Amino acid sequence: MTTFSDLGLVAPLCHAVEAEGYTVPTPIQAKAIPALLAGRDILGIAQTGTGKTAAFALPILQRLAEGHRRPAPRTASALILTPTRELAAQIGDSFATYGRHLKLRRLVVHGGVSLVPQAAALAGGVDILVATPGRLLDLVVRNQVKLDAVRIFVLDEADRMLDMGFIRDVQKIVTRIAKHRQTLLFSATMPPAVASLAATILTEGEFERVEVTPVASTVERVEQRVMFVTRDDKRRLLVDLLKDSAVTRAIVFTRTKHGADRLVEQLQKGDLKAGAIHGNKSQGARERALAEFRSGRVQTLVATDIAARGIDVDGITHVINFDLPNEPESYVHRIGRTARAGASGSALSLCDADEVVYLRAIEKIIRQRVPVDADHRYHADAVARLHTHPVVGKPRAVGPSGGRPRAAAVRKSRAG
Ligand code: AMP
Repeated sequence: MTTFSDLGLVAPLCHAVEAEGYTVPTPIQAKAIPALLAGRDILGIAQTGTGKTAAFALPILQRLAEGHRRPAPRTASALILTPTRELAAQIGDSFATYGRHLKLRRLVVHGGVSLVPQAAALAGGVDILVATPGRLLDLVVRNQVKLDAVRIFVLDEADRMLDMGFIRDVQKIVTRIAKHRQTLLFSATMPPAVASLAATILTEGEFERVEVTPVASTVERVEQRVMFVTRDDKRRLLVDLLKDSAVTRAIVFTRTKHGADRLVEQLQKGDLKAGAIHGNKSQGARERALAEFRSGRVQTLVATDIAARGIDVDGITHVINFDLPNEPESYVHRIGRTARAGASGSALSLCDADEVVYLRAIEKIIRQRVPVDADHRYHADAVARLHTHPVVGKPRAVGPSGGRPRAAAVRKSRAG
């Protein structure tokens, strides 16, 4: 198990987080802290609730404390820009909490309150300045603060910043900060406007992209179903599912690269357009498969977990777990491929007898039961009985050779 000290944080910071009751770093902390301590730029795709504040505040505190120099009058060494007063206040509190054993000066400035005390506090210079864009620009224009000494710059909630119309203010602020700096950009979503902002402020080709899926919200947005089936019937069930017209763009996950290739061959034999993407494919082959999938020429992409990580395709209607992942976190990453940007989506999991244990582990981390769809002609009651569930569809009496070819889960998602 990784600890905060394993991430490279010094004792005063580890003590402070322990006192807050944090024992294990969250995924974004585990990924971002070492990179930030090494001085790298970061593009963080994460929402509030993921622990992102500590992910940037802890390494910033450490870097400023190392070889600390007193800031010059009317300057700041680290600048955190955030869209709202509430967030600015919260971030300021977090810096105070985590930095309580370090002697660093910090200040929060935002609109809605008098500018005079803020200007007075800036007169002696601060190590950490947390600000909303409008008030910061006001202070800059009035010569109460200069930004040329900023060594670490954080743009928090970039998507909200743009939604709230702060883009020009942000751009004006950025031009006043020295080019030689460490930059961190956080955003919950990555619309094109944020991507192009990221491209202008991060060090080209040198930044690290850190993406975390907020478990709760993904799980809530996606309509999930599990279908109990024997291993032998999985492929036939998959073909039925993919033949439904509601499935316009589907990612099918397999556990192995080999399994992905085999499945694509079988789907193609069944006249379904499918491509595979996994680590054994050349970069060119992967890009071709992805381009065909994106353009809609190919309806189904069969992928392994690792290969799917870099895929950024909108409008995925269905995520189908042909194999259930043995790592429960992968389930959340997989189903997060659908229902992006507020859209709805379906995740269907084909579960055979050997995978019931994986399903249990998944249900534990998502803290809910995945509803069962028994309304398909391959429903395996013996597998279902291995895992007692509240059943959504009524099991059919017909065996593998009877019944209609369309599966209920697909029909439901078309209606919804
Ligand atoms: P944030 O995403 O920064 O708004 O943080 C969300 C909440 O998680 C805050 O209340 C933090 O105090 C808390 N938190 C951050 N990191 C951890 C951790 N490693 N363990 C437990 N709680 C944490």
